[in-house]
Amino acid sequence: MQIYSIETGVLKCDGGAMFGVVPKFMWSKKYPSDENNLCDCALRSMLIVDGGRRILIDNGVGEKLTESQACHHNYIADTNLRGSLNKLGYTFEDITDVVYTHLHFDHCGGGTQYKEGTNELELAFPNATHWVSKAQWENYLNPNVREKDSFYPENMMPVFESGKLKFVEEEGELFPNIEVRIFNGHTTGLMAVLVRNKKKTIAFTSDFIPTMANVNVKWVAAYDLFPTIVLDEKQAFLKEAVEKNYILFFQHDIDVECCSLQLTDRGVKPKDNFELKSLF
Ligand SMILES: [Zn+2]
Repeated sequence: MQIYSIETGVLKCDGGAMFGVVPKFMWSKKYPSDENNLCDCALRSMLIVDGGRRILIDNGVGEKLTESQACHHNYIADTNLRGSLNKLGYTFEDITDVVYTHLHFDHCGGGTQYKEGTNELELAFPNATHWVSKAQWENYLNPNVREKDSFYPENMMPVFESGKLKFVEEEGELFPNIEVRIFNGHTTGLMAVLVRNKKKTIAFTSDFIPTMANVNVKWVAAYDLFPTIVLDEKQAFLKEAVEKNYILFFQHDIDVECCSLQLTDRGVKPKDNFELKSLF
């Protein structure tokens, strides 16, 4: 099995939204921001190549954002999914499976694209089976008013209509050595992905733990729909993660791709941080 980190651009997100009730004098020591209080957030996907499977976890904002949407979301396309995959020698056609952690626009926007020179949507990964949790899908179809702004119909409805969307109803192994876990604090039915390779377990935690600073149990993002559920979920997951030596992979941390964990007298904290490629 080979596991690659895939960069797909940067979003600038408000620091207050990233760290919720944590005051700026505290979070600013752990995460950089600019004069407008905006934090650069990576949009990192993961590619897993195992035998005949080429599995992509999430696919960034994609290429469909209008100029005003890109501006509204402070999106910087300094890298993109296509370029990052091509660099590794893969094309969109090579992808056999796309696993969506959840369907907020910055995680699933790359699943569809406009046919060249038209306004007609097509699947970006024509040969892939797409996977999302059943609970997240039901939430996508019936969002509350706040979450609705993050769910774009053009990102997922063509995937559903193609018949290539499959629903994950419970936690467990989705592929050999690739397990999904379901969390409900950030949004209902977020799937984190645990990848086991060479006696290491990498946890793709998605927006459940978006940056290394968010490893602190109480540093809960204001983006999270159900903050007290996040607290409970993080406490339980970090306990397991430190006991079992999981390595966390951060989708949104601009500087840190991965970290190991340690148990201290003030709870579970990051230990070392490193790039994914240094592990294998
Ligand atoms: Zn999200």
